Amino acid sequence: MTIILETRDLSYSYGDGTKALEGVSISLEEGKKVALVGPNGAGKSTLMLMFNGILRPSRGDVLFRGQPLRYDAASLRSIRRAVGMVFQNSDDQLFAPTVYQDVAFGPSNLGYPAEKVKRYVGFALQYVGLSGYERRPPHHLSGGEKKRVAIAGILAMEPEVMILDEPTSNLDPASSEEIMEMLDELNLGGKTLIISTHDVDLAYRWADEVILMKEGGVVRRGTGQEVFGDVELIRDARLKLPIVVDLYCELVGRGIAGGSKPPKNVLELCDLLQSRGEGRAFVGAFGKIYICNVDEADWKHIRGLIEKNPAVFKGAMGTSAKVMAEKCGISIDFTYGVIDKCILKALIGKNSLIMTSGGMVDHALQRIKDYGQESGARIEVIRHSFFCDNTEILK
Ligand code: ADP
Repeated sequence: MTIILETRDLSYSYGDGTKALEGVSISLEEGKKVALVGPNGAGKSTLMLMFNGILRPSRGDVLFRGQPLRYDAASLRSIRRAVGMVFQNSDDQLFAPTVYQDVAFGPSNLGYPAEKVKRYVGFALQYVGLSGYERRPPHHLSGGEKKRVAIAGILAMEPEVMILDEPTSNLDPASSEEIMEMLDELNLGGKTLIISTHDVDLAYRWADEVILMKEGGVVRRGTGQEVFGDVELIRDARLKLPIVVDLYCELVGRGIAGGSKPPKNVLELCDLLQSRGEGRAFVGAFGKIYICNVDEADWKHIRGLIEKNPAVFKGAMGTSAKVMAEKCGISIDFTYGVIDKCILKALIGKNSLIMTSGGMVDHALQRIKDYGQESGARIEVIRHSFFCDNTEILK
């Protein structure tokens, strides 16, 4: 376990005397997805601004990889490259006349030669699914697209940690899902991610670690189940319970469910109920899950297969898969929580197809395998290469 960011007895007061943080000591592990939650004014934004030196502590230290932050110009440049910040309001971040110039701003400022800047901008825009938007003015884009440009601007500097203040605020559900999915993809690539959010469902299902803040301090940290499983604590912090936890509490109250901690998601909730004999177990054969790596796929072939098999549920994980599916006119049933949704379908005998790419292929395989081992449900998984060889297999 490597600690990438740490605060020691961190306190901060704004110029008008408002105390925003008091004695915050936390350490964050490399490669984790962390969600800061808490009511308005809890100090979440202030803490985030400390992580890359935008604000300087009144007392205490911030450490990156064990080294206390220094606040001279060169040290700040270096920490802001390593720890990138995406602001809540994209309009506060995007200022250049074109998308290209906006994304190029960071790497240009780092003194990279023009050719390298071009390469990095190209990569970052492709990653966020905005290749071809280079000449567009950012202020003409939708909220979701602006957020993507802001993320691309940070990605172009190859940060180790990305901090996102309320990344889904003001976005419609589909755009929110796309942004969170992109963050999952970045995390699978090794980036440490820290978000703040009021969306308790999102924090619960997405984060490896939840940090609950109140009145400038950290009141609890742990997994989503540990933090949100403490119902009194959550009510005391004036937050809602995630819907899965709320439902679980009601079921426990009626004696329909038990267990020591709430289920993590709908899949676990269904399994919990079934293990208690609530609902009849599906008696037919399980459905199959096909996994297709879009980087290797022959799209004509896949479209042909889907046309022949309209009953197959289709999920796209990651930006490349979504962009490709859209280009190929494939309508997608699942855009977030794709693996679990396909497992749920398999459990009621339906086939599904996961389109994805890169490291997410192995991630999907592992998740289904782990589920099979935990639950005993033997769901057949077929990788792209197999079913490309056999066009009839989806039938
Ligand atoms: P959160 O992100 O959890 O809503 P903030 O970090 O924004 O909390 O705010 C923590 C405290 O600091 C609040 O009392 C807030 O009013 C105060 N605060 C935030 N920004 C400023 C500022 N620029 N000037 C003075 N007080 C501020």
